[in-house]
This record gives sequence, C-alpha cells and structure tokens, in this order.
Amino acid sequence: MSTRDVSFDTLALEPATRENLRSLGYLEMTPIQAASLPPALLGKDLIAQAQTGSGKTAAFALALLANLNPRRFAVQAMVLCPTRELADQVTAEIRRLARAQDNIKVVTLCGGVALRGQRASLEHGAHVVVGTPGRVIDHLERGHLTLEALATLVLDEADRMLDMGFFDDIAKVARQCRRERQTLLFSATYPEGIAKLAQQFMRDPVTVKVEAQSDAVLIEQRFYQVTRTNRFETVAMTLNHFRPISTLAFCNTKQQCRDLVAFLLQQGFNAQALYGELEQRERDQVLAQFANRSCSVLVATDLASRGLDINQLEAVLNVTITPDPQVHVHRIGRTGRAGEQGLAISLASMDEMGSVGKIEQYQKSESVWYERDTLTPTGQGPLLAPMVTLQIAGGRKEKIRPGDVLGALTGPDGGFKREQIGRISVTDFSTFVAVERAVAGEALRKLNAGKVKGRSVRVRFLEP
Ligand code: AMP
Repeated sequence: MSTRDVSFDTLALEPATRENLRSLGYLEMTPIQAASLPPALLGKDLIAQAQTGSGKTAAFALALLANLNPRRFAVQAMVLCPTRELADQVTAEIRRLARAQDNIKVVTLCGGVALRGQRASLEHGAHVVVGTPGRVIDHLERGHLTLEALATLVLDEADRMLDMGFFDDIAKVARQCRRERQTLLFSATYPEGIAKLAQQFMRDPVTVKVEAQSDAVLIEQRFYQVTRTNRFETVAMTLNHFRPISTLAFCNTKQQCRDLVAFLLQQGFNAQALYGELEQRERDQVLAQFANRSCSVLVATDLASRGLDINQLEAVLNVTITPDPQVHVHRIGRTGRAGEQGLAISLASMDEMGSVGKIEQYQKSESVWYERDTLTPTGQGPLLAPMVTLQIAGGRKEKIRPGDVLGALTGPDGGFKREQIGRISVTDFSTFVAVERAVAGEALRKLNAGKVKGRSVRVRFLEP
C-alpha cells in the first residue's frame, strides 16, 4: 500500500475531524482502519477481523460518528461489547474522536452500576450508547431506551460475546433496530456463530481482514525448554533477566494462575492474577495496578485477558503453550504495539512440543530456541514495579476528580513533583493513585494527614 492510501486525508471526513486526528497523533491509518473505513464510510455493512491494539475502535468510531446528526436528540449509534472494561475504553475513544464535533453525548450502559443514573443519562439525551448486551436489554425492556433512530449498530469483539453466551441477547437487540441501519461487526476470530449473526442481521456485508503477519515481525519470539518442576523458577529467571516493566503471563488454567502468583509473590515480585471469577471490584483493582505500573506481572487466563487494552506491554510470557495456534498468535500480539518491538517468551516442556509444532505450521516459521541457563540476572536485585498504588476510600460518588488528588499531592501541603505521581483513576467508590515507589510511604502519610477536596480521607497501600 502506498503512503497516500494510509493517510486519513483520503477519506471523506470533516476538516475538524481530520484536525482532531492530527492532534491525537493519529497521522496514518492502521491497516485495519485503511481496510475498513472506506467501505464503512460508504454505508456498507462490514465484518472486520481485528484484534485489540489494531486501532479497531477508531475504525468503527469514525464510521458511526460520520453517520450522526448532533442536532437530533436520539440514540443514533450503539456499540455492544462483551465486558464493562471494554465498554469503558470504547466510550473513552469515541469521546476523544468526537471532540471535534458539537456536543456529542456518549452514555455507557453496563451491569454492576445502578440503573437509575443510567436512566437519567439517557433521559438527558444520548447520541451514542456503548454497553453490554444484558444491561442494554434491561433498559430496552424498561422503556428507558428506544432504537428507532439507530443508524449504526456495532458488535465489538463479537466472538467473545458469543463465547459468553450473548447470541440471543444480540439477536434481541438487533431485532429492535431499524432495518435500514448499518451494522459493523468486529471479531478477532471466526467461530461458527459469526456467520449465523451475519446471515440473520447484516445486509451484504463486506469482509475485511488484516494479516496477523504484519505485526509478527515486530515481535521477538524466544522459546525455552523447561520441565514440569522448573517452569515457575524459569518464569522468575526470565523476569530478572529481561526486566520488563509490564508483563502479561498466560496460563492455561485458573489454578496455574493462582499457583504462579503465589510463587512470584514469595520471590518478591509484584504479581497479580486475573481470571474469570473475580468480582468486578477486584478486577478493577487488579487492572488499575497493572495499568499504572505498580504490578509488574499480570498472570491471566486467555478468557480473562481478552478485551484488555494495555499500552506499554513490554513482554508476553507463555507459561505454558496453548494447544490452539490462533490463541498463541493472539497472545503474543499483545506486545509490540504501535510500531514498537515487543518480546514474547514461551516456555515449553517435552509434552508441549506437539503444540509448538502446530504453532510453527500456523505461523509458517520455525521457532527459535534459547538455553535456559542464559537467563542470568541483570540489574540490581529482584525486579520491582516502579510505582506503588495508594487507594483512597472515596471516588466518583464523593465527587473526587483526578485533579483534586493531584492538587493535594503537588500543592504546598504535599510538595511532590508532578513526575513523581503516575496515573490517577477514579472509580465509583475508590480512587487509585500511582506514586513512585521511593516516595510512596511519604505520600501515604501526607494524604492521610491532609485533605482532598476539603475533606480528610482514608488512604492505604494497595500492594500486590
Ligand atoms: P484499539 O485496537 O482500538 O484498542 O486501539 C489501540 C490503540 O491505538 C489505542 O490506544 C488508540 O488510541 C491507538 N490508535 C488507533 N488508531 C490510531 C492511529 N491511526 N494512529 C495512532 N494510534 C492509533
């Protein structure tokens, strides 16, 4: 593809939108955007094979925004997502991209949050709704939401929604939309249900696919042979050798996730487990700590990790090889985002060599093996996360905003430098603030002694 083809200027976008894209640093279309935006902007239905990190959100967000009439106060676009986290990320990306247009209201509808507030937001007028199927249906059935004016329906991570058993819910929603709508379906893989969805709810869809190969060149894959007994120890050796700031480590089972985390904690690493059965509140805490760099290793199952949008992931570690080569490619695609080189380490024991063979066939390349004893420690001491998270009791419900916390820490009473403070995320009932490890104790003391928004607050360490 020539450079001209990947410029956003080749698309029929408003000048203000183009300017906004430049201000966001989106200078060229990603491959999935270059493939899907031209047909989507022509109003065609679309089935796009794309993974997290490919820029897929902007691909459908730009299309749905182009279909909107800001002066019409009705829901004109809806994005269905499998999880609340993904819905939050999609909402944030749509808002960023909509900055150039007047007052576009985007409302998120997910479970685990009171219906009442969501209903009020809908009553205030929403142009775009982003939500999980169950909660969206809830609002439809209660009459809080109507889809008569819907111009664009997006199914994001459709494969994952099918995995989670949402086929009937999606069908129910689709049946309530106008026939003349545009439907955009994004999916990383093509299980059978996708064709069924397309057949029932899409009109003559265009299929676009971006070869996974294009990313693969930016990922350095290293294989190490391990035994059943030295596998966990080898995980620790790779961490102390490569010293990645953030690593996503994949296990095939939940039990293995728990065991590995227990082992890593005992060895002094900042590690946490992410698996299906965590409560939403626990999941939020784990993800907040990983995203703000106070947890170095997130140990996850494949299912739990899907839909995560984490930037700056230096390494992916396959603690065991997955028997499904497509899953392997999906796993390692999490590193090496946005043009940066990533590292994918795979540990395989003799009885996993069959799976390694399948991966080689699928990727059409031979795996490169390294000796385990080349994994010597580098740097000083065991790998520690650069930041520590402080949890403040109180969040959105107490009207705390990130600026209030930053103000308390960098103002005259706090005395910290802006650079010593990391990401501040406010959830309904808690606020998480990352601070440099070296000043964490002092920050805790000062916050507990001082005030945030004119009120005393309770603060504690949240350490993996
Ligand atoms: P996604 O696959 O939608 O989760 O996007 C992955 C990341 O790429 C997000 O952080 C986007 O903000 C970013 N992104 C999307 N499109 C572009 C683009 N054309 N240029 C640069 N970054 C982009």
